[in-house]
Amino acid sequence: MKTVIANWKMNVGTRESVALARGVLLALRGRSCFPETVLCPPFPALSEVRKVLARSHASLGAQDLFWEDAGAFTGEVSPRMLLEHGVTHAIIGHSERRQHLGETDEMVGKKTRAALEAGLNAILCVGETAAERDAGAQEAVVERQLRAALTGARPKGQARLLVAYEPVWAIGTGRSASPADAAAMHAHVRSLVAKLAPALSSRLSVLYGGSVDGKNAHSFLREKEVDGVLVGGASVKHTEFAEILSAACDVIEAQG
Ligand code: PEP
Repeated sequence: MKTVIANWKMNVGTRESVALARGVLLALRGRSCFPETVLCPPFPALSEVRKVLARSHASLGAQDLFWEDAGAFTGEVSPRMLLEHGVTHAIIGHSERRQHLGETDEMVGKKTRAALEAGLNAILCVGETAAERDAGAQEAVVERQLRAALTGARPKGQARLLVAYEPVWAIGTGRSASPADAAAMHAHVRSLVAKLAPALSSRLSVLYGGSVDGKNAHSFLREKEVDGVLVGGASVKHTEFAEILSAACDVIEAQG
């Protein structure tokens, strides 16, 4: 299985989200393979995108959530509210939230545990900054982030963990990691999850994110260690995203 996740960030409103979702279904039409496809629009577009995706193979994801179910938390959205909207996946700990909104490892941990305990599939983002990579600390950083996020996690039902390895220096910069470096980090992630959260490790997916586009997607997706890609900028461009889905289909078909 290969997974393709679209993170539309705050780049599109509801009308554009609906158009993008229709484009994705069109791109998948007529193919006999089905990459796990997850579309993550901004919160206000969730219910309209849900209508477009009804009875399709694509899933609906949120870009964030809060760790409490209900209460006096102005502006926040709980796992329960997302489930009511047909959301099955949630991005957690994206580096933009860590960088610009003060999200700490501790907060990311609370969100990850809340998502999994509610039965949502958690797309947990981890990755080092350029300075941390220059210092050779990338493996230690990812270990710290995973430890904080997964300690004590108890998934409900079929809830799965998807770890997105997203080096911060590669996000939105046009400078992706090499497929070999991504694969090496993915192997590290896999062995850490097996130790930290064995209950999550048998159905774990490890994805790469950071300047994935129509040209380089195949080189990541063909790596055995790479279960899929998390796509930001290229996911709001119809043709580019269709090329990424097509690359995932080609790899699935080639691998039988
Ligand atoms: C992201 O925002 O998760 C991301 C990977 O962005 P981009 O594809 O634009 O680098």
